[in-house]
Amino acid sequence: MASSIPWSASLALAPIPQRPEQIGTGEMLEAAPATQVPSLSILWLSAVPAPSFRPSFAQLLVGEKARPDAVVVGGVRDRELLSTWLSKAAAAVVPMIDTSEGTVTGADLSLPLVSAEGFELALAALRPVIERVRTLPATYFQSTDPGLWLLARLATREMALEPQRDVGAKATVRYAQTSMLPNLLASAERLYRSEHLERHFFDRLNLCPSCSSARLLVREECRSCRSSDVVEEPIIHHLRCAYQGPERDFRDGRHLTCPKCRNRLEHFSVDYDKPGILTVCNSCGHTSGEPAVGFVCLDCASKGDANLLRPQIIYSYALTELGRQAVFNAFAESDGETESQRLRRTVRQFVAEHRALAIPCAILVVELHPARVGGELGGGDD
Ligand SMILES: [Zn+2]
Ligand SMILES: [Zn+2]
Ligand SMILES: [Zn+2]
Repeated sequence: MASSIPWSASLALAPIPQRPEQIGTGEMLEAAPATQVPSLSILWLSAVPAPSFRPSFAQLLVGEKARPDAVVVGGVRDRELLSTWLSKAAAAVVPMIDTSEGTVTGADLSLPLVSAEGFELALAALRPVIERVRTLPATYFQSTDPGLWLLARLATREMALEPQRDVGAKATVRYAQTSMLPNLLASAERLYRSEHLERHFFDRLNLCPSCSSARLLVREECRSCRSSDVVEEPIIHHLRCAYQGPERDFRDGRHLTCPKCRNRLEHFSVDYDKPGILTVCNSCGHTSGEPAVGFVCLDCASKGDANLLRPQIIYSYALTELGRQAVFNAFAESDGETESQRLRRTVRQFVAEHRALAIPCAILVVELHPARVGGELGGGDD
């Protein structure tokens, strides 16, 4: 894929109007505090060559390898290259422009970059997200927790995790973030249980027991031969002889004749009534009071009774205050901490919270052998 060798560019943007003190220096962002430097580093991953044009005030630097403020991709294959350039934590939050106009799910913007002005406007539109990504502490970018990546993505976009209908997907719903975050739903459920996310009912799906597809035909079927060629017919009750049967047994051209006593039925509620409905199979002639409900899976062709389907409830998920704090406060607190410092702080916090509420608590220290791990936890300088 010689045509898609990625390179990065650094663009020094003009000052944002409301913050005129931020005048570009042309330096890479990482080299100076974010509050003073307006330059943006852009990773160009698109197989389409980077444009020669640029915003008039911008300096274009080629070949830099640094954590970018934004990334430009030209298709799904380009997006997949992202993981070779960035940590998974960084790839989960980096703002993305898709120049293929909508083929890359999870991109923040989809538009062709055809002029310096368009490029400038695209970066200006991404600016709020870029600013929020900049506020993530450095430790975030080493995180290996997909749950943390999900929280940070939602926090930096100020958005919820919303399912969307998609008949092209086996599940018939998808989350735009699925392509950016592994095990998305497992992470979301874990974060819901830990109260970092709240969830809201979206829909209830029924899934194929063989392949988990929700693309199913669900229909009434004959209880005897499972044909779907069934019709509902009224039951006719002949009042004089008390015979009951489906209407087709009484049909005699344009008239109704009782198949038992051969008398003609003329007047509803005088000669006969209709006490109910029967299901009649056109395939085998079987009649029953209620049809069976069956399914056919459109993906794997499995068939069966509908009570074999696996229900699944689909939710949307939104950050709670705890989730927001976890991204912007707790991360910041742990900035620069070693693992043992972080553990000590967590234990102190746990004890302080329980002491404040006068709730008894206990801490279990586990030592692993032969390497002695966790001793510091029990050290107890509290
Ligand atoms: Zn009769
Ligand atoms: Zn049948
Ligand atoms: Zn199936």
